[in-house]
Amino acid sequence: MSNVSASDSILITHRCPKAACQARIRTRAERDGRIETSCPTCHEPTILDIPSDVCTDRMITRCSLCPGREFFIRKDFPQKLGLLLVIVFGLVASVFYYYENIVATFATLGALVLVDAAIYLFVGKVTVCYRCRAEYRGVVYNPDHEGFDLATSEKYD
Ligand SMILES: [Zn+2]
Ligand SMILES: [Zn+2]
Repeated sequence: MSNVSASDSILITHRCPKAACQARIRTRAERDGRIETSCPTCHEPTILDIPSDVCTDRMITRCSLCPGREFFIRKDFPQKLGLLLVIVFGLVASVFYYYENIVATFATLGALVLVDAAIYLFVGKVTVCYRCRAEYRGVVYNPDHEGFDLATSEKYD
């Protein structure tokens, strides 16, 4: 068994296997081998099988939750923050629009694009399993993994 230090351990986010629940579960992989975890919502147990090379190389080659071996890498954009920004900037823009201040309306929408772009520059990346959509954070990016590919994704539907 190999150990990785807690500060840079791998964080795995996966869905509860119970179809009716689908809660997001976060598990820290601090060692290889089997990890038993249970859903915080419905207490359904989940078994993760962390491959030993994930702990030594910190590189994902196969999924810890399913037999999946294909992954894509996406930006770890904070979805909730993105939505909040759209709502806030949208409200401000609609107020300017109401008062027929078209320049300010477009300036507000332009600012939203800039803020989004700035966040996008600073967020990290996340490795995602095509088959079960488990997310892996704190890993080394596998050079074999690319951005999301719809054709690959459709194989698993
Ligand atoms: Zn559950
Ligand atoms: Zn998987």
